[in-house]
Amino acid sequence: MSLTFPASPPDSTPARPRHPADAHALKVLTVDDDAVFRRSMAFALEGYQFQGRDITLLQAGSAAQARTLLVAQPDIALLLLDVVMEDGDDGLMLVRHVREAMGRRDIRIVLLTGQPGMAPMRDVMRNLDVNEYWHKTELGSDRLEAILNANLRSHQFIREALQTRRQLEHLLAAVDGASHVPDLTGLSQALLVDVARLLGLPSEGLVVMWPAHTTAALVIGATGRYAELQGRPLDALNDPAQVLRIEQALTRQPGTSAPPDHAMDLLMPLHPSSALAHGQGLQVDLATLFALWMPRRQPPAPNETEMVQLLVANVGAQMHRLELIAKLDRLAYQDPLTELPNRNGLLRRMHAAGERLSTMVLQFEDVDQFSHLNLMLGFETTNRLLQGLAQRLRDEAGPEVLVARVDNDTFALLGPRDRLDTRLQRHRSEGITVSDGHFSAVLHLTGARVDLALFDGPPEEILSTARYLLNDAKRRGWSQEVAYRPGMEAAARDNYRLGQALHEALRAGEIHIALQPQVWLGDGTLKGFEALARWTDRRGHEVSPVTFIALAEASGHITALFTQVLRQSCLAWQVLESLGLGHLRVAVNLSALQLATPTLAQDIADQCAHHGVPPAAIELEVTESAVMLDPDGAAAQLARLRQLGFEVALDDFGTGFSSLARLRSFDLDWLKIDRAFLGEIGQRPDHETLPDMIVTLSRQLGLKSLAEGVETEAQRLWLTRSGCLAAQGLLFGAPMAVSALPAWLHAQGHLPHTPALPAPLA
Ligand code: C2E
Ligand code: MG
Ligand code: MG
Repeated sequence: MSLTFPASPPDSTPARPRHPADAHALKVLTVDDDAVFRRSMAFALEGYQFQGRDITLLQAGSAAQARTLLVAQPDIALLLLDVVMEDGDDGLMLVRHVREAMGRRDIRIVLLTGQPGMAPMRDVMRNLDVNEYWHKTELGSDRLEAILNANLRSHQFIREALQTRRQLEHLLAAVDGASHVPDLTGLSQALLVDVARLLGLPSEGLVVMWPAHTTAALVIGATGRYAELQGRPLDALNDPAQVLRIEQALTRQPGTSAPPDHAMDLLMPLHPSSALAHGQGLQVDLATLFALWMPRRQPPAPNETEMVQLLVANVGAQMHRLELIAKLDRLAYQDPLTELPNRNGLLRRMHAAGERLSTMVLQFEDVDQFSHLNLMLGFETTNRLLQGLAQRLRDEAGPEVLVARVDNDTFALLGPRDRLDTRLQRHRSEGITVSDGHFSAVLHLTGARVDLALFDGPPEEILSTARYLLNDAKRRGWSQEVAYRPGMEAAARDNYRLGQALHEALRAGEIHIALQPQVWLGDGTLKGFEALARWTDRRGHEVSPVTFIALAEASGHITALFTQVLRQSCLAWQVLESLGLGHLRVAVNLSALQLATPTLAQDIADQCAHHGVPPAAIELEVTESAVMLDPDGAAAQLARLRQLGFEVALDDFGTGFSSLARLRSFDLDWLKIDRAFLGEIGQRPDHETLPDMIVTLSRQLGLKSLAEGVETEAQRLWLTRSGCLAAQGLLFGAPMAVSALPAWLHAQGHLPHTPALPAPLA
């Protein structure tokens, strides 16, 4: 026992230097105004130990001193209190103060009195939790020891119970809190704080995760002096022996305890509970391993270990739950090839952005000719190129821009307007070089852009608008970009409706041809007719062929339309033949898209044969801009058509940028001079140089020339003089229905010898 004497009041300071064991000594406080009694008490307790532990005897000569001591020494276990001091009530007032004001229910209180008959009331003792009451004269040293033994034991018991209760409260709060933490990092930090609180230690330690199929363990939670290891590999701990121990703990089987070593630290694997791993049909690979490590200065008490294990088991289960969620999340929101967010991931971010979306731009980028690349290079190489492209886009877009892969070869960029304004413009013209290490390719990108300040709609609608714009851009060729314009939806809707109506019209055979005469300028005789498609929709509106031809091209209906036009042209030629005009030709327009069909020439020949029309009766017109899209392919097609006996005309000549060298490579019969060149013939002399050049050029190339859109006598005269062979235009006749043909031929005197008109044709 160590003893403090009441040398001078307050006699609370230990009289001799602290013994190292003092830290764990139990503290007993005697409060008595009688100095002699205090001394005898010290004497009586000399050498007393409780369960092998020393006690420190603190002494106070008054209730006021006692209060000061109780505050300064919060771990006093037992109070031996003289109930009657100078002021008769002081003893009981001090008891009340300890229990009620200080809220200390753990301190044991033994009341003493020197005056018989001064016992406090029983109910006072019970209410204030006073444990014993003795007359001083009864206190021999044996009794005193017995009193101390009993009360110190119950104090210890109460302390443990209170401690356990606090720990249980922490535990419950921690377990409850863990189920609300949404991510692994948060859960790890919380675990470190909770375990520290449970053990009454400062929070300092690591939570380590070892994901399946990886070679290094990763710190996902770090507190105290380890905080800077957060997010880094475990090796960064710079203590190979410790790293090895933690790694061993990570791979330890559940239920087995750590191999006995003399380390003072807490090292526990965090295993999932079997209920979570196998319950609810969730047979998912939970191979990721977690462990908790906290260094400490003393081994934990057995009940502490149990509680920490309880907490750790629960948090372990939560870790695996979150891992599972993260895995499912990745499956749902991430593209496995590029590890970018997928379409769903992009949508989720857009929904989360809320109002801020209106400050952003969404850009779609699509690889041109991607299916060609796939075919040429194979699946694996193109996949690696896509990964390279994803990386390039991510690097160049910078951290403020979200890059996602929304489709096979379509990437989306979402970010602030100023970040996306100039990006990719350079790549648009030059292409973007991407390499997989062995092979590098220049990829061309077609873009669609929606400024979200201009477009107000839910994210799903924004994406489908971007997709629509991208399709539109793709139709225009390589490396194009189309941006959203307000009001586009209405045009798109109308276009869509018109497309549906065209589809119906084609099925119902409602597309007709009008025939426009072509004449030889030399003698004014008929050369033939151009067949021009005509469509009157169900509301009775005539739709311009410029509109519906483009629509038919865009919707894949152009071949069906051509077939109907060609069939009617064949029927019209049969009419001409029946009128003795079988030498005339009917010219039919080909669309640019048709030139890509390898069997085109043969298909046309077959159809003509089917109607008994010789190829020489049909002329095919193809625009200059159409042949320039793929000049080599077009040259081959035209050559085949000519070999089969058809005449071929280059339509709208002068508008499509062909070079002279190119022109020579095409197998042609006619150049049709675009009417744009005739506009001012006969009005200003210098405007005649261009058509003059074209006529001269066609002569030099050995081609026949026909002028389109001839409306005036002056034009006819000029063209005739300059050597142009044929012409077509309102001056000679407007496009007319096939049924009107016989009457027109008759009226114009083109019929060879027929005084009587045949019956009108349907
Ligand atoms: P195109 O082949 O160059 O046809 C000549 C266009 O000029 C026709 O317009 C015709 O009506 C118009 N035209 C004829 N003479 C005159 C004139 O003296 N003055 C003026 N201002 N115009 C005249 P249309 O019928 O509106 O056809 C426009 C274009 O639509 C055609 O140009 C052709 O590129 C295309 N097209 C028409 N039918 C077909 C078809 O069956 N298939 C394909 N692929 N395209 C067609
Ligand atoms: Mg034409
Ligand atoms: Mg033309």
